[in-house]
Amino acid sequence: MLRIAIQKSGRLSDDSIKLFKECGIRFESGSTGKLKSLSTNFPAEFLFLRDDDIPGYVEDGVADLGIVGENVLVESSKNVRVVHQLGFSKCRLSLAIPRSTQWNGVQDLQGRGIATSYPRILGNYLQEHGVEAEIHEISGSVEIAPSIGLADAVCDIVSSGSTLLSNGLKEVEVIFKSEAVLIGSNQLSNEKQVILESLLFRINAVQAAQSNKYIVLNSPVEAIDQIAALLPGMKAPTVVPLKTEGWVSLHSVINENDFWTNIVKIREAGAEGILVIPIEKMVY
Ligand code: ATP
Ligand code: ZN
Repeated sequence: MLRIAIQKSGRLSDDSIKLFKECGIRFESGSTGKLKSLSTNFPAEFLFLRDDDIPGYVEDGVADLGIVGENVLVESSKNVRVVHQLGFSKCRLSLAIPRSTQWNGVQDLQGRGIATSYPRILGNYLQEHGVEAEIHEISGSVEIAPSIGLADAVCDIVSSGSTLLSNGLKEVEVIFKSEAVLIGSNQLSNEKQVILESLLFRINAVQAAQSNKYIVLNSPVEAIDQIAALLPGMKAPTVVPLKTEGWVSLHSVINENDFWTNIVKIREAGAEGILVIPIEKMVY
């Protein structure tokens, strides 16, 4: 059985639970105050923890796998491996200074005080840029540090920038980009490795489905080749005759990123009645 640590409540929790549900793995979530929960249909037990504790538990082998932000993983500096990128909880770690202060570059911070919850990532960044500054480690509400005179700048997580703005700060430099990752212990038994492989198979099927759409359209017979070239699909599009002479229905799969660019050309080629349908799982 695999023990999988996920955040009890916070910005990683909902998407972590959703991922396992979409993989068809059933368990009771931690919102009921439970600390752990056994899946009823997959050989896994879920542990609900604070995200900061997860890399340590995985390193110690208390948990086999865990989900954390790359920011927390790198800051923790624990001996664990990234098993899979998960693509959610995207955010960045940035330097910010009071809005009225001029910014010419990171050298401006030479000899200054910077408040952060990420002393290790910030320290490495400053060292790489040859800047010596005083790092004040604080665990929360970093953004108020300049206004209370604790620091000249902050280094904090940003997603929209609205928290910085409401504290009179401006973002001046992104120093680290983060998303959620599945981390794993370096010493999994063969049995656990086999369960991990089957979990990764499911995660890949869910992620492929999310980035692709099923597309159905009507095409004049003479436009089939031109439209098919724009919709290569997994092998080749399916072409089914319509009852109306001279027309076919063409079915294929398209990557979401290519959709808006290709759809214009597909219509120009003569396609009509274009349907775009979500895919639930996709196995190559
Ligand atoms: P805990 O109580 O578990 O210690 P926390 O308060 O430290 O939680 P959260 O604010 O829930 O952490 O953030 C968890 C992770 O989500 C962060 O480490 C980061 O990777 C990511 N994250 C943080 N802020 C955002 C945001 N605004 N948008 C998206 N992802 C974010
Ligand atoms: Zn935390």
